[in-house]
Amino acid sequence: MNKGAESVGGTCPVTIVGGGLAGCIMAWALREHGREVLLLDRGDELTASRVAAGIVNPVTGPKLTKSWRFEELWPAALGFYTSIEEQTGRQIFHQMPLVRLLDSGQQVDKWNKRLQTPGYAECLAACPLDPGKYLKSEYGALTFDRAGYLDIREFINLTRDMLGDHWRKGELLEAADDGITLFCEGIAGGSNPLFEWMSFKPAKGEILTLHIAGLAQDRIINRGGVWLLPVGGEQFRCGATYDWGCSDSKPTPEGRQVIEKRLDRLLQLPHEVVDHQAAVRPVVRESKLLCGMHPAHDRIGFFNGLGSKGVLNAPFFARNFADYLCGHGVIDPEVDLRGNI
Ligand SMILES: Cc1cc2nc3c(=O)[nH]c(=O)nc-3n(C[C@H](O)[C@H](O)[C@H](O)COP(=O)(O)OP(=O)(O)OC[C@H]3O[C@@H](n4cnc5c(N)ncnc54)[C@H](O)[C@@H]3O)c2cc1C
Repeated sequence: MNKGAESVGGTCPVTIVGGGLAGCIMAWALREHGREVLLLDRGDELTASRVAAGIVNPVTGPKLTKSWRFEELWPAALGFYTSIEEQTGRQIFHQMPLVRLLDSGQQVDKWNKRLQTPGYAECLAACPLDPGKYLKSEYGALTFDRAGYLDIREFINLTRDMLGDHWRKGELLEAADDGITLFCEGIAGGSNPLFEWMSFKPAKGEILTLHIAGLAQDRIINRGGVWLLPVGGEQFRCGATYDWGCSDSKPTPEGRQVIEKRLDRLLQLPHEVVDHQAAVRPVVRESKLLCGMHPAHDRIGFFNGLGSKGVLNAPFFARNFADYLCGHGVIDPEVDLRGNI
């Protein structure tokens, strides 16, 4: 029976399938409406959320492109994580400047042109940081202050604590008997028959943890497809590779080599590799997050495709989707599943 009309906008329970970044953010967003939530997670250890660095970077790629809808998504993300910190008394989001080292004279020219476009100059910190003697900064550096990282593992732990016995270990492959079922399965969504028409594009990423003595630990550093994120105790996460179409979670010698080679263009200090992990980013369609109701089932929802910018993008659209599920407003047309298939 199609219970859609009663479910959306009603008070029926919501079952969330998947306890990664997407499912956890949806759980908090629905809780803001007082909606009853049950989350089922099968407990995979090497998921994108458990391996990711969690960085928010306002300007990315060789073309120095401002992140999509950054002006809206950044305050929404910051407000969302801050609200959880206030409720739990635990810090999960670490706002931290990001120093972007430029690669070439062409890139310097590109940035100067970018500055004529509204929104770019606003990303720059009022007080730029000096890259210092250990970084290769022959073409100069930019400092962005609307940046930082989410400790995603800690966020998942807080969500589990918040849900108590409403977080259960288990797997669900079809809609729950009652209420709405929201599939937040990450790359595993690609093998869910309910979404077999959706083209998932796995993007494996490898990431290293390094020990680097003597490098400043108060900033994220980025250059030429590699970044260093300080995580305390002279340790840094460093990544990440992009291996399109690859969907295993095995670290490889080739992946490590790619990262270390790129690191050579950035750092003048020795490093020691202390860990090496890999996981698969969930990318769908045109590499953008999609959410909303299944085109043929009004009690089945979808929140996926967080790609490489889930930390920045997910909070705004989770709140939008939760509002819709609780009877307020419509889903943003740019991400609405039903309008983008
Ligand atoms: C190396 C690497 C670095 C990254 N760095 C960043 C970064 O710096 N910044 C950023 O924003 N993003 C980054 N990402 C991307 C980010 O990790 C993802 O966008 C995000 O974590 C995806 O979250 P998710 O919840 O959609 O998927 P997942 O993390 O895969 O979570 C899905 C969960 O659902 C569970 N599950 C799946 N199917 C079922 C089922 N049928 N029943 C029960 N449970 C199920 C899985 O076990 C898993 O726990 C990175 C990713 C990688 C791999």
